Amino acid sequence: MALLELSEPGQTPRPHERRVAAGIDLGTTNSLVATVRSGVAETLADTQGRHLLPSVVYYAAAAAPSVGDDAKAHAVTDPFNTIASVKRLMGRGVDDVKRLGNQLPYRFAASESAVPRIVTSAGVVSPVEVSAEILKVLKQRAQATLGADLDGVVVTVPAYFDDAQRQATKDAARLAGLNVLRLLNEPTAAAVAYGLDHQAEGVYVVYDLGGGTFDVSVLRLHRGVFEVLATGGDSALGGDDMDHAIAEWIMREANIGDHADPMLLRRLLRDACQAKERLTEAQQVALEVELAPQQVWQGTLTRSQLNALIDPLIQRSLAPCRRALRDANIKLEEVREVVMVGGSTRVPRVRERVGQFFARPPLVDIDPDKVVALGAAIQADVLAGNKPDTDMLLLDVNPLSLGIETMGGLAEKIIPRNTTLPVSRGQDFTTYKDGQTALSIHVVQGERDLVSGCRSLARFELHGIPPMAAGAARIRILFQVDADGLLSVSAKEQTTGTESSIQVKPSYGLTDNEIETMLLDSIDHATDDVAARQLREQQVDADRLLDAVGVALRADGDALLDKTERAAIDAAMQSLRSAREGQDERAIKNAIAALDTTTAEFASRRMNEGIRKALTGRRISELKDI
Ligand code: ADP
Ligand code: MG
Repeated sequence: MALLELSEPGQTPRPHERRVAAGIDLGTTNSLVATVRSGVAETLADTQGRHLLPSVVYYAAAAAPSVGDDAKAHAVTDPFNTIASVKRLMGRGVDDVKRLGNQLPYRFAASESAVPRIVTSAGVVSPVEVSAEILKVLKQRAQATLGADLDGVVVTVPAYFDDAQRQATKDAARLAGLNVLRLLNEPTAAAVAYGLDHQAEGVYVVYDLGGGTFDVSVLRLHRGVFEVLATGGDSALGGDDMDHAIAEWIMREANIGDHADPMLLRRLLRDACQAKERLTEAQQVALEVELAPQQVWQGTLTRSQLNALIDPLIQRSLAPCRRALRDANIKLEEVREVVMVGGSTRVPRVRERVGQFFARPPLVDIDPDKVVALGAAIQADVLAGNKPDTDMLLLDVNPLSLGIETMGGLAEKIIPRNTTLPVSRGQDFTTYKDGQTALSIHVVQGERDLVSGCRSLARFELHGIPPMAAGAARIRILFQVDADGLLSVSAKEQTTGTESSIQVKPSYGLTDNEIETMLLDSIDHATDDVAARQLREQQVDADRLLDAVGVALRADGDALLDKTERAAIDAAMQSLRSAREGQDERAIKNAIAALDTTTAEFASRRMNEGIRKALTGRRISELKDI
């Protein structure tokens, strides 16, 4: 029986309001923006129909920076002010940049700051600012094409990017006025573009050969989520090296000798790059290079000559593939598919050799220089809430630390942020009071040391702990975040096996903006937090001591203390109680020390009394075993 949809009288169904979202591939050589329209992901072109935006920014004196092909045109004539491959500098410190040394043609400002700054005619700029210029152009392009402001974007980053590099990328996006829904690993984005997340579970390899970098990633798809098992690559291997190989070949053929002047070299490289790209379709190309005014060299480069020139380069990419598989503990036969990413994987020889290596034809149906942006767009569409039926979010790392509240309102982190999911971590805790039979567990998320600065996720209780002395019980708290981003927490008392558990969904309802504020907060408050933590620790110590002395007084106070002694202890307890109410960590510490001293004699009498009781009625022979 078909079901009819009924609508209440007077109620007009409201069309689902689409949020405008885009995916951005912020590449070393080229950047792209893509979006999902009418259910199809597509990259967006500029007014001249170009989809790829060269990741190049040109800074001229007293002018707005230009980006893309216009900027690239200045690379030959004004290299110091034409910033290319800035992605290599993202999140890097001054020392890293020094290590890269003369690979970088820019002038760096001497600065006390930890962030390297590039000197240009338009002033000193940081890598984050340069990237923001590229992002601004893509943002404008998207908004002009879509006729609306962007609600949010997914920006892709290499899987090996560390926290600082990811943070720098986010900062660049924020500087460009973009709302980052999430950073997504480039290989994961490529896999999503191929719809592999809807396919069979298993291991996939993403082979990404771009302009100047080679990255290989081994991913495992499990319950719709990609886990990065291993990454590898070569940060100085890509299409640029093919261009160099061709340029050197031309120099040999044209008898130019070893040292072409820099201007000629740049022209040669540009021509070599064009020849290489044309040979992807053609079997041979005619070359014409102006060596000097009135002196033109003519020649032909064939596909097989090109293959011979680039074979050693392709070979160099295979060792990292082998290593990544080994790191991931995966055998070649276990790889289900190989995804080709990056403009240089258009080269037929690359496809052929990679196919031979993995013993299966690689996936090449989607344009390899667009595939990352397309995957990011699909993910952005889901994250923006445009696909309400897709409830599964592709989480590949845990964005904020997860932990529990311990005594004194402190947050103990159990799974630190950016841990790859799924993950399971446990930690042992103990009881705080003698005879404590229940434990209340408060699950929190965030980076701050104090629970009050974190987000509360859930509370549950563990009952039935056998009464023991404080600190004797062993309670194992286990955090597990599964592939869907679902957190389950269980607590188990180890000696009795008493167990309790709860499921919570930590990522639900928390926007990346909130995450960012929380992260920034934790940095801003780092010093506050240390002081607050120390205060809380003293307060916990004070409570523990007051508790213990209280128990002792009730048990033996009347028997073992005279009136003056008792009054002194009561007074010391009272002053600790009032210090405990204040905010002065030192005052609490002193009051604790004072109460300790005042009760020292009482404690030793209790100990003697305890021994006396234990010895009463025993014979000497038995005592030997004690
Ligand atoms: P990145 O990820 O580093 O930003 P891309 O994926 O955009 O780089 O790849 C850029 C490289 O791809 C350049 O070296 C370019 O010459 C090369 N490339 C682009 N199209 C082709 C083609 N049709 N044939 C061969 N190489 C190509
Ligand atoms: Mg790329």
